[in-house]
Amino acid sequence: MIPFLDLKTINAQYRDELIDACTRVIDSGWYINGKELTQFESGFAKYCGTQFTIGVANGLDALILVLRAWLEMGKLCKGDEVLVPSNTYIASILAISANGLVPVLVEPDIDTYNICPKNIVNKITQKTKVILPVHLYGQLANMPEIMAIAKQHNLLVLEDAAQAHGAHINGRKAGNWGDAAGFSFYPGKNLGALGDAGAITTNDPELAETLMALRNYGAHEKYKNIFQGLNSRLDEIQAAMLSVKLAYLDQETTIRQQIAKQYLAEINNPLITLPKYINETAHVFHVFTVRCQNRNALQKHLESHGIQTLIHYPIPPHKQQAYKEWNEFSYPVSEKIHAEILSIPISPVINKEQVCAVVKACSLYMV
Ligand SMILES: *Cc1c(COP(=O)(O)O)cnc(C)c1O
Repeated sequence: MIPFLDLKTINAQYRDELIDACTRVIDSGWYINGKELTQFESGFAKYCGTQFTIGVANGLDALILVLRAWLEMGKLCKGDEVLVPSNTYIASILAISANGLVPVLVEPDIDTYNICPKNIVNKITQKTKVILPVHLYGQLANMPEIMAIAKQHNLLVLEDAAQAHGAHINGRKAGNWGDAAGFSFYPGKNLGALGDAGAITTNDPELAETLMALRNYGAHEKYKNIFQGLNSRLDEIQAAMLSVKLAYLDQETTIRQQIAKQYLAEINNPLITLPKYINETAHVFHVFTVRCQNRNALQKHLESHGIQTLIHYPIPPHKQQAYKEWNEFSYPVSEKIHAEILSIPISPVINKEQVCAVVKACSLYMV
């Protein structure tokens, strides 16, 4: 079986370094908010090109905390509208409703699967205060256009960069376009911890300061609570793991991009639509998604050739029971994507023979 993503083999590459880092933390006697966190935060800020990185417990908390901070800072009020792609992972939307803000779903571009700037403009109302673009599957959303729209309408921009560590346009990376960005280091992400972890990047000192308190019970100083904050911390062990893995991120991204290039060049089947990108470096191929009218049949076919695939994602947010009030709404582009999408194996440890086997099996697919 060619696994979709072999985390064991990915982490085994760095086993000795990870064990050393782990030992260092165990022996330090300091497990929360210490040197390892500070070191990872400055390393990741430098990597993204931002002034600040604030480590938090996971990617969902990263998004929740930024919106919460803007509420505390008086930049947002309950009931304000946040524009978010209709085909995103549910976390982007949960972060909005968790704060008493109103998610407004915006249809994506069928070619890139990312939020469509034209559709953003059509959804702006008096209540719109934030655009929350998601760099889905590892590709930067059209940030030059989105930032121009935000500037024109005086909107804040929160990037959901959970799938796009290191993606860039002319060197300007995911996490360094909007007013702030949320990252996830869930084990399966391009930069993955060995457990849960997340971070926020920003160039706004006031926001960074507010977030430092919000993630820590609303306190800068112990027992002095200025906000009704959360407990959302990135522990020392995970920070140490992430510092090890950050050093290899670009190398791993290059491998992903090479595999993607091969898939794009060699999968040649009129029944399979390959992904498109606007800029080669703007896509770090967190997943490689193809589209097929009879997706379930393609998935079965690949499985019979020993290839594991996944669906990102099977149910669109507006059809989820958690958002019953949207169930009758129609988002045709999103619905088409969810019905036809299939992710084939891509990872830094998949070998040449495996890539060739995937190409071959895709080429053999017929109805
Ligand atoms: C993974 C992911 C998140 C949430 O990250 P967690 O660390 O699992 O909380 C948010 N948004 C997107 C687009 C994601 O892929």
